[in-house]
Amino acid sequence: MQRILIVEDNKTLAKLITKKIVAELNIEIDVAYSLLEAKLFLKRHDYFLTLLDLNLPDAPNGEIVDYALSKNNKIIVLSANVDKDLRKELLNKNIVDYVNKSGVNVINYIINTIKRLQKNQNHTILVVDDSMVFRKQMKNMLENLFYKVITVAHGEEALGMLKSHPDLSLVLTDYFMPVMDGLKLTAAIRETHNKNDICIIAISSNTDDEVNAMFLKNGANDYINKPFSKEEFSCRVNNSIEALENIQIITNHANRDFLTGLYNRRYFFKNVQTYFNTALESGENFAIAMVDIDHFKKINDTYGHDTGDKAIVNLSEILRANTGQNDIVARFGGEEFCIILKDIKPKNAVDVFEKLRANVQNSVTISDKNVEIRFTISIGLVTQHEDTLDETVNQADMLLYEAKQSGRNKVLSN
Ligand code: GH3
Ligand code: MG
Ligand code: MG
Repeated sequence: MQRILIVEDNKTLAKLITKKIVAELNIEIDVAYSLLEAKLFLKRHDYFLTLLDLNLPDAPNGEIVDYALSKNNKIIVLSANVDKDLRKELLNKNIVDYVNKSGVNVINYIINTIKRLQKNQNHTILVVDDSMVFRKQMKNMLENLFYKVITVAHGEEALGMLKSHPDLSLVLTDYFMPVMDGLKLTAAIRETHNKNDICIIAISSNTDDEVNAMFLKNGANDYINKPFSKEEFSCRVNNSIEALENIQIITNHANRDFLTGLYNRRYFFKNVQTYFNTALESGENFAIAMVDIDHFKKINDTYGHDTGDKAIVNLSEILRANTGQNDIVARFGGEEFCIILKDIKPKNAVDVFEKLRANVQNSVTISDKNVEIRFTISIGLVTQHEDTLDETVNQADMLLYEAKQSGRNKVLSN
């Protein structure tokens, strides 16, 4: 579990922060009331983050910050002191953030910052700048915010990285660079990745407003003018990443079925249509199947709707476990599922679904009242596709109907 060290001699505040963090986050907390105590804790544990008060009984002038930095800790400074110069001096050090204790909503701000930092660990940022000094500086600032960072010296190299790292969240690009400048790079990225896939922030020392406008028109999400403060930099990067996360949450909601987490019917047709077209062109074999629980109504009527839901979830897990990473399993509604197995020979597809049918027959769902329930499924399988996706799915549906009519618990294929 992640650990945070709070060093704060105001015991009431320390307790309040601890209580709130423990309530909201799955994090272990240690509290020290002096530099001496803090040193002991820092020797004993590796911390995800340290929250450090500048004014301690045995270290009244922020000595704790340099000590914690010398031990490679990530630091959020807590201080009642709002002196401008001190704030500047601190921010010049390698700290994550500076929080004014007397401000409103301090604790919420701290909690939200910790949450942000935790999520940042899942994001990789590509820094594109021809100046090594700037690359290093930005890498440093971003790593301080817990991002994973890759750096390259020009646009062409950046495009290569984009291909080899499909999980990049953000590209931070300079404007003036040899080979390919930031504007051209932005346009090139947007040919393959839209704003919902990857954020782009332009960094330009150009005071010409036109360049910033051009960046935005070429598809950049935001820009930062050099010189910039560390705080502005952090806020803009975090804001862009947060916007990207929100879009991904919404997209996920739109594409997925709430109960099972499987894709929904809408996503299935949108996504599979593209695959269907390319498979027709390349001649790749694939299989589409409709799957439906037998006598599901009886489960609902006998054990209740919640237990029916459990059976649906159980089936969805079996379907996922018996299909590949590239295959698509969708819940079309109720207890009806549609599956596409990609790049598979007809005979193998029949084997997969036969095995699936047997697995379901042998699986057990536990009802709300702890009763073991067993159920079976019927499957309509198309291995010789029709002209269109709609017709192919309809064909699978007809075969499913025939499987039901001829006794259920069977795979019927064309
Ligand atoms: P068959 O073997 O012919 O498929 O019979 P069946 O009883 O499985 O099929 P039928 O279409 O008659 O009944 C399906 C039932 O599924 C009716 C509906 O109330 C129930 N149902 C639909 N969606 C859900 C759901 O999300 N959860 C639960 N628990 N039940 C659902
Ligand atoms: Mg440059
Ligand atoms: Mg049914």
